[in-house]
Amino acid sequence: MNNKSYLIINSGSSSLKFCLFIGDKAQADLTGIAERLSTAQAEISWQYQGEKSQVSLGEADHALALKKLFSVLTELNLFDSLSAIGHRVVHGGEYFKESALITPSVLNKIEACSALAPLHNPAAIVGINAVAEQLPDIAQVAVFDTAFHQTMPEHSFLYGLPYELYESQGIRKYGFHGTSHQYVAGKAIEVLGLDKNNSGVITAHLGNGCSISAVQNGLSVDTSMGFTPLEGVMMGTRSGDIDPSIHQFLADKLNLSLKEITDMLNKRSGLLGLSGSSNDMRTLSAKAADGDKQAALAIEVFAYRLAKSIASMVVGLNRFDALVFTGGIGENSFLVRGKVINHLAVLGFELDQNLNNQGGDTFGIITTPDSRKAIIVQTQEEWVIAQDTIRLTAQA
Ligand code: AMP
Repeated sequence: MNNKSYLIINSGSSSLKFCLFIGDKAQADLTGIAERLSTAQAEISWQYQGEKSQVSLGEADHALALKKLFSVLTELNLFDSLSAIGHRVVHGGEYFKESALITPSVLNKIEACSALAPLHNPAAIVGINAVAEQLPDIAQVAVFDTAFHQTMPEHSFLYGLPYELYESQGIRKYGFHGTSHQYVAGKAIEVLGLDKNNSGVITAHLGNGCSISAVQNGLSVDTSMGFTPLEGVMMGTRSGDIDPSIHQFLADKLNLSLKEITDMLNKRSGLLGLSGSSNDMRTLSAKAADGDKQAALAIEVFAYRLAKSIASMVVGLNRFDALVFTGGIGENSFLVRGKVINHLAVLGFELDQNLNNQGGDTFGIITTPDSRKAIIVQTQEEWVIAQDTIRLTAQA
């Protein structure tokens, strides 16, 4: 039994999510978030042994929030067992094909990828540096959203653009949500008893951000997100794929800057843009049930575009064993799962309505016995980060 504990940190530009795993179990023992950092309303909240606590942080930044977190861990007698810290890092570019123990050279490379993820990588670096300053002897590990997709072949990660843009600017598909796709694909292979070396699954990570991945023999061969997380399927507030000429058209017609248009595509499109009311699938499903036509339309477009993207992913596979649903929507919305499966009837899918409504059979399967399999798997992104942290620091 391993009694060491591992802290997992997900730094955003104004927030810092964290969870602590004690020993080898997949369930986090302490979870929390420091929010509105560097504003007068900064606060930290956490949950431990069923008890929720919240403390105002004044105008704390990431470093002060971490200091408070370490003092909370000390008060709870959890600090002394802290053995390593794992960070979620969004972009590893082409440098990182897997998670890495953080060294000065690794940190430089994460910095070099900041141009590719200007909102996310600098936040992760702030978190890593703040830990290093306060706990200089603790081992830190970086786990990248992009790493799992580094096995994509050239024909799937290149765009039809001048090749020199790939060479000089790194313009290519990178893909995101890698820890989730890797974990749920692995689980589905295990649960369905598939051959690890001869299997093809398509994973649909459907949360606020959504992406699809084609996974051949456990390796990513294609994915819907691209150079940024804006590409691919429609999401809560992101448009997903659109005709790139729309930028120019809107700039000319509405006198908008490129930044304003990109902002609109990231923050005011997708489910929110189409419904005109919410980016939240639970809210929209309730509204649609109450007769809100825009909410119903937003769900229809979401499900159709999703099914289309899933169907296109088949091209990357040698065989197609199962479709995997995960993320807040994938795990909970029988409405979306049902619509997607029905759109995919031509690929041999047949929904078992009862199983779908009840969240799957004991394995999570929601299709009939004769159907190609569709299965729900709960994602465990933090646990994947913790496992890599444990593995890499044990080797160090
Ligand atoms: P995530 O980013 O993985 O937390 O997923 C957030 C999305 O999952 C939001 O659109 C939620 O509305 C959606 N979601 C969570 N629970 C449900 C539910 N029971 N039914 C429908 N959508 C849900």
